[in-house]
Amino acid sequence: MSIRGKQKADYDESREKIPPKERELWLDERLRDVVQYANQKVTPVRDKLRKAGITPNEIRSIKDLEKIPVTTKDELVCLQREDPPYGGFLTVPVNTLSRVYVSPGPIYDVFGSDRVRAYVRHFKAAGFAKPGDIVINTGSYHMVPFGMVYTDALDMLGVTVIPAGVGQTELQVQIMHELAVTGYVGFPSFLMSIIKKAEEMGYNFRRDFSLRWAIGAGERHIQVLRGIFEKDYGIEISQMYGTADVGVLAYECTVKNGMHYNDEDAIIEIVNPDTGKQCPPFEEGEVVVTLLSKIYPLVRFGTGDLSSYTDEACPCGRTSTRLTAITGMIGDHVRAKGMFIHGRELDEAMSGFSEISKYQMVLSLRGHKDIIGIKLETKQAVDQNALSDAIRKRCKEVFKLTVDEIDFVAEGTLAEQHKKFVDQRWAS
Ligand SMILES: [Zn+2]
Repeated sequence: MSIRGKQKADYDESREKIPPKERELWLDERLRDVVQYANQKVTPVRDKLRKAGITPNEIRSIKDLEKIPVTTKDELVCLQREDPPYGGFLTVPVNTLSRVYVSPGPIYDVFGSDRVRAYVRHFKAAGFAKPGDIVINTGSYHMVPFGMVYTDALDMLGVTVIPAGVGQTELQVQIMHELAVTGYVGFPSFLMSIIKKAEEMGYNFRRDFSLRWAIGAGERHIQVLRGIFEKDYGIEISQMYGTADVGVLAYECTVKNGMHYNDEDAIIEIVNPDTGKQCPPFEEGEVVVTLLSKIYPLVRFGTGDLSSYTDEACPCGRTSTRLTAITGMIGDHVRAKGMFIHGRELDEAMSGFSEISKYQMVLSLRGHKDIIGIKLETKQAVDQNALSDAIRKRCKEVFKLTVDEIDFVAEGTLAEQHKKFVDQRWAS
């Protein structure tokens, strides 16, 4: 469990590519084991099964999980409040854990070397972080796992890491240039800021820098940025999906056609939020997770994220199922001027503007007419008229509606965890 010191990656390529039927049996076997274990050790799981009138012996396969009601994020928060800080899910004493990270909430992340290995698998699947690479890690090293866990994974892979942390764009440019950095870990939008800063400083990024790849973490809608990175700068991007509650859940391979399930660590289901039943391939549902962990065996936890899956064979040879994309969050949409606007569409429309740091859509009424407004914070002084025109055009392309008002607000006006949509139309 300790992640102190160097460890072997324990990465078994052959297990990534075992025949699908064998994989199914392997997953079912581990699922049965963890449900039995959780039923013995974790009171909320035992209560959940009892209330549903089922015994752990009835959970023989992933399909059987449908019998267990999903534990929502709100339920988990309640359980954590009643029995802080882990809600009864942690099966070992806290002082036997090698690290405890604290994500906003606060969520106390349970971390062992098993979680680090998921990041190693992502690097391997993406074809990144090979001997000879010099990697700059711009993730935060304070409280949250980001900076440390990526550094642990890169350490296992034997590459050189610069633990740069967040901010100091100009210094990051200098480091990347002087040390001929080849790989980047951090937010894609911050990488774009670094590139723009380098250009401001008179560099030609493609010619003067050695950056070949970037791991995109923490931002779910990087498709637009990805196109710019690949076409304009020759930088390959690979993304993963995970949450602070459950760690890495899926990651891209070199094919970049969906994200392979991290089924070494978790059973993932796509579940119809209304019925609790598993969805067929390509149908949108909630991502529901059962952790195959003896330390923190969460059973059927609903992440609140929406996605769909495909079980079609992937050309890379990995036989795990793939998430197609994260398409939004439950309840993450509004209706205006007779049409739906999804959070993912707003993200997509805004993702091409690297100068924007925060945004929020505000819906109001003028007479009986819906008014669509967007509040914006920018990282630097901008030509507001030109940017407004560009945003209006992009929004029209993405969600087919005209934005009526664009309001530039001072930095810090929008809270860190601000809502994507504010609907003032129902206010008295
Ligand atoms: Zn693949």
